[in-house]
Order: sequence, then C-alpha cells, then structure tokens
Amino acid sequence: MVRYVYDFTEGGRDMAGLLGGKGSNLAEMTRLGLPVPPGFTLTTEACRAFLETGSEPASLWEEVSAHLSALEASAGRSLGQPDDPLLLSVRSGAKFSMPGMMETILDIGLNDDSVLGLAKVSGSERFAWDSYRRLVQMFGSTVMGVDSSRFSRSLVLLKDLRGVQDDVHLTASDLAELVETYKNLIHLETGDHFPQSPAEQLRRAVLAVFESWNGERARLYRRREHIADDLGTAVNVQRMVFGNLGADSGSGVAFTRDPATGRPGLYGDYLPDAQGEDVVAGIRNTVPLAELQRLDAASYDGLRTHMRTLERHYRDLCDIEFTIERGTLWMLQTRVGKRTAEAAFVLAAELADEGLITPDEALARVSGEGLARLMFPRFDASATGTALAHGVPASPGAAVGTVVFDSAQAVRRAAAGEKVVLVRQETTPDDLPGMIAAQAVLTSRGGKTSHAAVVARGMGKVCVCGAEGLTVDTETRLFTAADGTVVEEGTLVSVDGSAGAVYAGSVPLMDSAVIRYLEDGQGGGSSQGVDVVDAVARALARADTVRRLEVRANADTPEDAARARRFGAQGIGLCRTEHMFLGERRKLVEQMILAGTDAERDRALADLLPLQRRDFVGILEAMDGLPVTIRLLDPPLHEFLPDHTELAVRIATAQARDEEPDAHDVELLGAVNRMHEENPMLGLRGVRLGLVVPGLVTMQVRAIGEAVTERLLAGGAPQAEIMVPLVGDVRELRLVRVEVQRVLAEISRAAGVVLDCPVGTMIELPRAALTAGRIAEEAEFFSFGTNDLTQTTWGFSRDDVEAEFFTAYLDKGVFSTSPFEALDREGVGRLVGIAVAEGRATRPDLKIGVCGEHGGDPDSVHFFHTAGLDYVSCSPFRVPVARLEAGRAAL
Ligand code: ADP
Ligand code: MG
Ligand code: MG
Repeated sequence: MVRYVYDFTEGGRDMAGLLGGKGSNLAEMTRLGLPVPPGFTLTTEACRAFLETGSEPASLWEEVSAHLSALEASAGRSLGQPDDPLLLSVRSGAKFSMPGMMETILDIGLNDDSVLGLAKVSGSERFAWDSYRRLVQMFGSTVMGVDSSRFSRSLVLLKDLRGVQDDVHLTASDLAELVETYKNLIHLETGDHFPQSPAEQLRRAVLAVFESWNGERARLYRRREHIADDLGTAVNVQRMVFGNLGADSGSGVAFTRDPATGRPGLYGDYLPDAQGEDVVAGIRNTVPLAELQRLDAASYDGLRTHMRTLERHYRDLCDIEFTIERGTLWMLQTRVGKRTAEAAFVLAAELADEGLITPDEALARVSGEGLARLMFPRFDASATGTALAHGVPASPGAAVGTVVFDSAQAVRRAAAGEKVVLVRQETTPDDLPGMIAAQAVLTSRGGKTSHAAVVARGMGKVCVCGAEGLTVDTETRLFTAADGTVVEEGTLVSVDGSAGAVYAGSVPLMDSAVIRYLEDGQGGGSSQGVDVVDAVARALARADTVRRLEVRANADTPEDAARARRFGAQGIGLCRTEHMFLGERRKLVEQMILAGTDAERDRALADLLPLQRRDFVGILEAMDGLPVTIRLLDPPLHEFLPDHTELAVRIATAQARDEEPDAHDVELLGAVNRMHEENPMLGLRGVRLGLVVPGLVTMQVRAIGEAVTERLLAGGAPQAEIMVPLVGDVRELRLVRVEVQRVLAEISRAAGVVLDCPVGTMIELPRAALTAGRIAEEAEFFSFGTNDLTQTTWGFSRDDVEAEFFTAYLDKGVFSTSPFEALDREGVGRLVGIAVAEGRATRPDLKIGVCGEHGGDPDSVHFFHTAGLDYVSCSPFRVPVARLEAGRAAL
C-alpha cells in the first residue's frame, strides 16, 4: 500500500521528490541531531492524487491522525487542548524551492478557548492573542480566500487609532479586538465562520496548501523557472515554536556564506520578538545577524555551530531559517542556498580549495547560464558620478531603464518594448510579473534575504534592495533621494546590482572582468582569496580537461573568427556565405539573377569570385590550423532582390505621374514576380539552388579552393570543409559533390597543390535524418542544422510562430521552453539519434556536429554529448558557455 505520510525521523535529503525540498531537509537536519521541532510530511504523491481526483486518498487522514497522535504523545498535550494547546504549522514545500510562492499557515490549533489556555501557560496574554490573530489572518486569506490586504488594512487602522508604529506596541486587548474584527471580516466576506475545531483547521489548511500548487503566482514562477507543473507540493506539519514570546525570542534567516559574492562570512537578518514570516515580508526592519551576538550570545554561538555542521554536511552554501523561543534556538528550514552567478563560481573554487569538494564537483556546481551572465557588460565606474542612493547589492549586474512603481505598469511598458526598473518599498509575490518584466528591481526596505533579493537572485535579475535613503511613494508615483532629488515615473535610472548603487540617467557600460579575461587573458590573481576571474578560469580549465565534445563557432568574418578563437573555439562549424552576398555586392548578385544569357551570368559570377575568395582567405587565416566549415549558399535568391511592394510602389508612382518607370525597376519587379514563392522556407533554396542555378556551386567552390591554395602557398595550414545545405536525398549530394571534386581537382592541378577539402552535408530535414545511412555514402561529415530541423519536424516556421502562438503554447503547457531554445529531445532529438546511428553505420569515422543555435544552449549541449556528437558550434560569445557545459555533460 502507498504511504502518504513520513515522520521527520524517517526521511532524508535524497527524498526531495517525495517529501519536497523543505521536508527532506527538515528530516536531514533531524537526523543530524540539530534542534528541529518535531513533525511529519505529507508526500507530493498525496498532493498529486488530490489535484488529479479532487479528493484526498482514502488512507490519508488515518495516516495523519496516527502521526499526530505520536506527536501529541511526545509533547504531552493534544492539538488545540484548551488548557495547554499543542499548536502546529502547516507548510508547503515542493521538490524545487519556490520562495514565497505557496502557502504556509502558522498557529493551527488556536481557538476562542485554547487562546486563553495559551495565555495562561505562556504567562503572556499578548503573545497568545498575537498568535491567534495571526492564525485567523493567515487562515482567512489562504484557506478561506479573503483578500489579505483587508486584514492588513484593519491592522494599520487599529495601529493608527492607538497611535503606535509597530505591531509590538499593540496590547493584548488590542489584539483580542483585532481577532474579533478579523472574524467578522471573514464572516462578512465568505458567509462562513472561522472554524473553531482544531482538527478542521488542520484538514482545511493541508488542502489549501495542496491547492496553492495551482495558484496563479506559483504557476507563473514555475513557467519562468522551467519547473514541471505536475510535481505537486508536499505539506509539512510541525510543532510550533514561538519567536514572538518577547524580547528574548525572535526569528531570522541566514546564509553560511555571502550569497552575492560567495565569500566566507555569516550573513543574515534577525528580528526580535517576531514570527518568521515577519522577517521575509519586510514588515519591520531587521537587524544584521551580528547583532544577535550581542542580544543572545548563546543562541548566536549555537547557530554558528549548526551552520558549520550544515555546510560541512551539504558541502555547499546553505541558507537557513531559525527561531529563538525564550533563549532556545530552533532550526526551521535549510536548503542549499540560491546564489548569484559570481558567488557560484567563487564558492565552487573556494570549497574545492578547502577540500570539501573535488574539482569535478566544483565544475558541476557552476553553469553556462551563470557564465553568460558574468560576460555581460558592467557600468563604467569612471562615469557613474554620485549615486542617488545606496542599498544592499542583492543581485549583481548593470541595468538601465525607466522607473515604474507597480507590477502592472512594468508589464505594460515592457510589453511595449520599454526597459523598466521596478521600484517598490518592498516586493511581495504579487509583484512577480513586474519583476519578470523589469530589467532591475529596486526597493527601499529589506535585506539580502528579502523577497525582492531572493527572487531576483533566482532569476539572475539585477537587484538593489534596502536603499533606505529613498522615500518611495507609489501613490504619487515618485521617489525622493536623500539629497532631495525627486525621480518621477518614466525617468531613466541606472541600477548597479554589484555595487548596490542607483544613478540618475543612463550610465555608460564597459566590458566585465570576465570578458576582459576571455579576450586577452587579463585579470584574476586577486590577493584576497579567489576572485571571480580566477574562479571562471579554473572552471573552464577543468571543463576543457574532461569534455569529449569539441566546441566550434559560427562565424562569417575574420573578426568573429578571431574572437571565437580567443574564446577557445576549436574551429568554425558554420561559416555562412550569404552574408558575403550583401552590401555593395548585392548588385552583382542581382546581375547574376537577372542574367538573360550564360555569358552575362558568368560575368557576374566571375566578378563575385575574387570577393568571395578574399573573404575565405581572411577567415582561413584567422582559423589557421583549425577546421572551417563553409556552407554553400542557402537562402532563397529573392532575399537578395529588393522588396516587391517597394518596387511596385515606385513603378506605380512613376506611372501616376505619367512618367516612364525606371527600366531597371521594371526588370527587377519581373524577376521578383517570377521568383515569388508561397513558402520560400520550403522552396528554391539550399542544395536546390546549387542544382538549378548554373555556375553558382562552381563559383563558390572555386573561391574556396583558390583561397585554400593561396593560404597553402603562404605557408598556412588551411582546413576548409565544404558543407551542402538542405539535402534531403543522397542523389542531391552526389550531384553537387561531383562538381565540387571536379573544380577542386582542376585548381589542384593548375596550382600544383594537394587540396584536401572534405565534403559533407547539413542534416536539417527529417528525410535527411531518416535516410542518413544513404547520405553518409556521399558525406564525409554531418552537421545538424537544428533550427531548420526543428521547423521542418514540427512543421512551423520560426519567424512566424514565436510571436503568434508560442505564448499560448507555453501557457497551456504544450511545451515549457520554446523548441528553438532548447532542443526538443523527444521529436527532433529522436531524428538526431537515428541520423547519428545510421550515418556511422555506413561510415564509422563520420564526423558529426551541430551548428544550429542549440549548439550554445546548455541543456541541448548535454543532449548532444549523450547523442555522441563530435562537436557543437555556436556564436562566438556562447563558446565559453558551450565549453563549460560540454565539460559538465561529461561528468
Ligand atoms: P516559505 O516556504 O515561504 O519559506 P515556510 O514554510 O518556511 O514558508 O514558513 C514561513 C515561516 O513561518 C518560516 O520562516 C518560519 O519562520 C515560520 N514557521 C514555519 N513553521 C514554523 C514552526 N513550526 N514554528 C515557528 N515558526 C514556523
Ligand atoms: Mg521558509
Ligand atoms: Mg538551415
């Protein structure tokens, strides 16, 4: 029989799928002997069953009551017992952390009777009523669906009435009054009463947590983080401990290292006389963790010891939530902490230095996405001027945008193409859409562990929080800096998430240290521990040692080729020749297309030849000694002709004026009309061009062959490879190949050099993949063109669909990432697998690569590694990312 409930003593960290991250880590801490309030976890399986069928599994409540009885027995009192109530928290916790996205309900078990009992045994009426009003509020909003702002408004109103600033200054009878207000509010809004039965409270709270999995913000967060929708959440039921029992109590959050930089040190926020949700919500200003040492040295020391234990045990940066109840420390949560890209690299290197992890583990801990982020530009420090404000550098990077003051405005403006900076006093989960839309998030309150900081860091979004010098007024839509500068909505600001500063206007950008290092090997070697450049260099070096996949670049110019080489490319996997047909050469291409006779066409081609040759010489020189895969002309020819409408309008205008239209225009329009295709993507392009436009292949191959010859004679080591695009049948390739070999032989004879230029093909049509065994008879190498292969496999055109229906498809969960971003393993990946297997069956030494944009996508790189490819090729800036991910794939 399936089990749906596990005690904290029964689980462990490897059970996150079943118990959720929070539950499995609570179990792990329990097993480590840390002070965790006892409790049990309802599995994600129970949640899935409930969400699928709409009702709980039959045995669920029996199991819950058995575990509850055990908990009650060990506590020596029962849930909600009137004279001395056992109270519980009901906490969501999915496999992957979704900070603040789902629900947690504290103080379950309080009612009109037990609140009096709690007052008596705790010796504090105020505490008892404070806990009760929290329960009614959380239960009212989370379980009964009353808008939470209704409760906070009543609270603010009462504080105004009493003339106090802080919750802690409300008296017991104030809070008792608030409970009445809240209960009335619930009744008014729902027609239902706040349940007095502790058992009913527990049952309904559990179901509400299950349901919060499908709440709007949870879904949005999952889509953004690519977390599957069908995992479900676990629910943790745990004995309450109380941080709101007076000045010797409190709650806090902490990191074992700085999550922004990865440097050692204790980071965190503490709030005396508070329950944990107050800390994260930024309701009151927290104090730095160091302050706890002064307030309660024993708890502080205990905390440090536990944190060291956790870091050694998890061998990673951990973040924790803790509560101190009258001088006793309780650990309420831990997990391997989210961190910035910089911190990930630095931390991995530091932990490897400390011997806690191996070099391979260090490599596994960093990511290509993180590296890409570190390659982004930074603000030019010499141009920043004085800051409007300083705050906590919560998530690094440089962002420029116009100020907006709410989530809706951020979404609206961003949709219109504007770059925005979301400015709030503090953020809540309701601000999530705006945070996603914004370039940066700026808050005037909250520390490194505030909602804004945690969420922004997870998204890799620039964030400065707790900029206390700012007065943010979301009503009048402006903020005021400490020096009196007023900044209205729509004003441009620059946010430096690395330095924690905000500047007026747009500050110029400069290269990041990591880019400087990649470009010219400069930087690193900091005297104070590992710096980010060192750390990146070490990760890349390790990746290069362990990876099997080679990394090449897609480059069409000598400059790009040279940069790619500096970034570590081992050749060019795709050199497109169509870019070489543009600009002033367009005229020559026009002539070739319009040629009425063979002689005219030959003349145009002969004029193009030296230009192409020069391009190839430059690229082969930049990549001397490394392979350069040159693709023969691919796009439909009409792409090189002027736009149809433009020509038609020009001619019509002339006619309307009774003038003679330009003869060239008329001729061009004729050609454009002749070459019009309904589906150019599936029309006369790729190898088909080579087979029907006389002389085109000959000219291109001649340019390549002569360029190779020139480089050979200059003492170079050119390695050109000739790639034929859009082949669907081996016969197409055979025809082209015969011509290629004829031309190369001719050049070779004439120049007296040996030309060794392998001929291969792109695999970018399903038919090519399915007949790869035949195609390999003629191809010396394959290169998957995954952009076209994705288009033709799915049957949709990338240029047309991304805006049209992809958003709807993402919403409806048809896919969680665009198949143009991450390779569709199930469909396109299957074709890749077939082509690799059958191609190699024909020709065991067949060299196989990929040159679509997927070649630089981390997830896809892992797939290509597993699929047995020899190399990936991507844009020069993705080369370091691909090197790193190819290394990680090999671990
Ligand atoms: P989240 O996933 O949003 O972090 P949690 O389940 O961790 O939600 O709950 C939020 C806060 O509620 C915690 O930080 C903690 O301070 C408080 N809390 C949860 N369980 C307990 C408990 N058993 N005793 C005291 N406080 C608790
Ligand atoms: Mg928590
Ligand atoms: Mg293609």
